[in-house]
Amino acid sequence: MLHELMHDTDNNGYKSFELPGARPHYNPDRPGQVEHIALDLIFDIPNQSYRGTCKIRLNPVRSQIDRLTLDAVNLNIEKITIDNVSQPFDYDGELLNIQLKQPTKIAERIELVIAYYVEKPQRGIYFIAPDEHYPNKPTQVWTQGEDEDSRFWFPCFDYPGQLATSEIRVEIPKPFIAVSNGDLIATEDKGDTQIFHWYQREIHPTYLMTLAIGDFAELRDEWNGKPVTYYVEKGREDQARLSMSKTPRMIEFYSQKYGYSYAFPKYAQVCVDDFIFGGMENTSTTLLTDRCLLDERAAIDNRSTESLVAHELAHQWFGDLIVIKHWSHAWIKEGMASYAEVMWFEEEYGREEALYYLLGQARQYLDEDSSRYRRSLVTHVYREAIELYDRHIYEKGSCVYHMIRAELGDELFYSAIATFLKDNAHRTVETIDLLRAIEKTTGRNLTFLFDQYVYRGGHPDFKLGYSYDADSNLAKITVTQTQPDLFDLRIPIALRYIDGDSKLLKVRVHEKEQSFYFPCDRKPDFISFDVDNYHLKTVALEYPLPELKAQLQHDPDPVSRIYAAQAIAKKGGLEAVKALSDALQNDPFWGVRAEVAESLATIKLDQAVEAVLAGLSDPEARVRKSIVTSLAQIATPESYKALAAIVEKGDASYYTEAAALRSFGKVAASGLSDSSEADTLSLIDSVLKQRQGWNEIVRAGAIGALSQLKTSESALNLILDYTQPGVPQPLRLAAIRALGAISTGQDKLNLERILDRLKVLSRETFFLTQVAVAVALGQMETTKAIAVLQSLADQTPDGRVRRIAEESIQTVQKNAGSDKALKQLREELDQLKQENQDLKSRLENLEAKAK
Ligand SMILES: [Zn+2]
Repeated sequence: MLHELMHDTDNNGYKSFELPGARPHYNPDRPGQVEHIALDLIFDIPNQSYRGTCKIRLNPVRSQIDRLTLDAVNLNIEKITIDNVSQPFDYDGELLNIQLKQPTKIAERIELVIAYYVEKPQRGIYFIAPDEHYPNKPTQVWTQGEDEDSRFWFPCFDYPGQLATSEIRVEIPKPFIAVSNGDLIATEDKGDTQIFHWYQREIHPTYLMTLAIGDFAELRDEWNGKPVTYYVEKGREDQARLSMSKTPRMIEFYSQKYGYSYAFPKYAQVCVDDFIFGGMENTSTTLLTDRCLLDERAAIDNRSTESLVAHELAHQWFGDLIVIKHWSHAWIKEGMASYAEVMWFEEEYGREEALYYLLGQARQYLDEDSSRYRRSLVTHVYREAIELYDRHIYEKGSCVYHMIRAELGDELFYSAIATFLKDNAHRTVETIDLLRAIEKTTGRNLTFLFDQYVYRGGHPDFKLGYSYDADSNLAKITVTQTQPDLFDLRIPIALRYIDGDSKLLKVRVHEKEQSFYFPCDRKPDFISFDVDNYHLKTVALEYPLPELKAQLQHDPDPVSRIYAAQAIAKKGGLEAVKALSDALQNDPFWGVRAEVAESLATIKLDQAVEAVLAGLSDPEARVRKSIVTSLAQIATPESYKALAAIVEKGDASYYTEAAALRSFGKVAASGLSDSSEADTLSLIDSVLKQRQGWNEIVRAGAIGALSQLKTSESALNLILDYTQPGVPQPLRLAAIRALGAISTGQDKLNLERILDRLKVLSRETFFLTQVAVAVALGQMETTKAIAVLQSLADQTPDGRVRRIAEESIQTVQKNAGSDKALKQLREELDQLKQENQDLKSRLENLEAKAK
């Protein structure tokens, strides 16, 4: 059953997740159980190299094994011994085949000692150092094992099905310190160098073994007597506190919620430079990108650092304490780590904030599902495991956990989770183990839910009709599933009254279209479909304005209020504007206000513009950000003026300021703002010259503004300047990406300049630069971009870059087809729409007066 679904190639018109070359992946045969891995390494940091030994203790599964095959990429293998007897081996740079002089005997342990050295490694372990362009970059060494990169820094059986204890002993020059998994069991002073010896007593897979070396500041907290430490570049201690100091409370929270006390002897977080992920949950030693370190102003409205800290910490239970047996089940850990963010926000900021955050996750999945591909959460058919790390396993996975919680109720959900952890602690799991733990604890069989949401792609798209028959006192609700594969779910519906009264019902929704009739004593003021919005879905509310207005005002669920706002905006008209403007002023929850602003901006009436602008004084930065983002859709002299004012004066929030800049560029470029290009450019340029700051958020916004001035050569020249080496990295990455957006309006000569620049940049090896280049090329509308993308895809060592580059090729092929005449027509249409809006707005006012 499962396999059939996995190989289903008829995807109902969706692009396939499986790219050419995808094939099934299985764990290899096991020669035995790896019990312990010990690395003993001496580092030569200036020369980006190290040498030493890797010892692997193996308990053979059977007798007569005479050959062992280890993963080992681009290592220099010097010698392999067992009990001091050297063993013959052959090595092709990827697999290390060892011929055992003495075949194994069952249960008689052998210890391989592999002497090796590594010079200038490309993956697995990264040497960061200052260079001519970035003389202030810190010197650091850090590792990244997930998914199959540990083999690039030590030889191993590199798949998550093997769990072993481990130790890492390193000799490094002073003043550097080394951080690794488990306990620091010894340090030794050797004059110019120092030895750090770390020991991890709980078994774990090779991909979670880590090492970070740097001249770090160490900050200490504790939880239940266990050290909780933060390592950052010296001078950033305040930022470390601001960013990570909730960690002990989080450890307590997850220990309680998961019903399993934090399992490791310490918890360290090390913030490293040029990290290629947001964070990595190495056992007891998480590595985080130093870009997550906040300053006071960023802390106003940045929640992504807090969610990152929560996510990686939750992995210590889901991923590290219980380990997925194969990458195909990665949703078990990534889905829960993402859901742990929701859980923490519920604890810290309340239920509305958590539900809104979950809606954001759902939307990220929905976006990937509609624009990229649709796939089963569990699949072992791929080219590289890293391709699985998408919006499906994280965000959809999170939504699946939320649905499980709703099915079971809080108490049973958390006791099922505790059973899952207790039964599988220090072991490997597959999806079926979660189902079993649920059944064991609660008696509930949730296979129906997993069949529909885990083992198969997609989600229901509902259309909802509602009417009330006053003669027979019947409420009629019509539910239509508009997606091809029907879902079979029990959905709670509430008939609600604004006095707070409500009637809760559950209906089985399983057909394409179903109508339900509910007898009532009096006419409900509105209805809530899928009460609490537990199910992952889309929903379009298609019922009359009075009910939608009542719902926007009175539904206790913020997500339902947001759906109502969207439905109201779709109706348009002055009454809709009034209802939304009222909600923008009065809804108690900022998330609803932010969404209402967006909905308002879609109504093409001047009165809607006024209402949006009135929200600019909102005390919540995230609402202001939403408003200025929405203003990009409204190109009028008023919106230009409002945005220019924010660009000039700034905002308390970096993010609002950056969003204002982007919208400012867009409105200026529309030609409807009465502004001159020179004025716009000089304002943006002054921001670029003056507002260097935290993570370059604001100046990246200015670059985004420039990228909107698509026909401007001066804007292009400015952007090109900021792609030069030496420009602060986040700003430079923004400039590289902006080359894609601005390219679509440039003439032939400038298009060549852009392509030349991107070609040069594509040869840089840093992961984030390559991503930016691939993204920029993907936005271009010339087939000339394809050759550069192809060579990037061929040459990059990173599977993620390869995938983005190949998907970009498809996009370019599609976009290169759309021709200039069509674009011209579109612009003229926009102009007409604007004139039409003026007329309609005047008409609405006249009608209102006539009434
Ligand atoms: Zn994760």
